[in-house]
Amino acid sequence: MRRCLLSIIFIIASIEIQFYIPASALAQDEPKTYVSNCCTILYSDARHVHYFTQRIGGFKYTSTGLDDNPLNVKKRVDEIMGKVQSTLDMYPSDFHISIMLVPDYQTAEKIFRQFSTTGNVPLAFYSNKTKTIYVNVDSVTVGVLAHEMAHAVINFYFEVPPPAKMQEILAQYVDIHIWD
Ligand SMILES: [Zn+2]
Repeated sequence: MRRCLLSIIFIIASIEIQFYIPASALAQDEPKTYVSNCCTILYSDARHVHYFTQRIGGFKYTSTGLDDNPLNVKKRVDEIMGKVQSTLDMYPSDFHISIMLVPDYQTAEKIFRQFSTTGNVPLAFYSNKTKTIYVNVDSVTVGVLAHEMAHAVINFYFEVPPPAKMQEILAQYVDIHIWD
């Protein structure tokens, strides 16, 4: 009887352990967001938004310190997406994607390996499965971001996404002609 009671206590204790998740752990895993017209920007640290805005911003965004204002990242991302869509002349309806700001190469590699076991880890990549562009904030450039945005737009625009090679040609065209 005593043994039985002990095992019941043990079971109850282990159930409690299993379901006890500290609130702080949950908060840490949940990324913060900025939502612009085209994109939800996911980030874990405001500093990454700062780097990202600087890297994609060009001179006018970095010279005045305006990159500290979250409105700038939203405005800039929408501006680049607008250019990408007009360069491709593709305006898919109900278009909205996420952009995940990845802090460093190690994290980028970890994420990339969930999608592909081979190949070099790119500076950024778009997954049509998650509708997300993953960018390494350390090394992304405006051209790299525009290229990945082009992949997203192409995948939304066509009911059946075109073959990878054709997408690549279109996305590279955007890299080259976006600021014409
Ligand atoms: Zn590409």
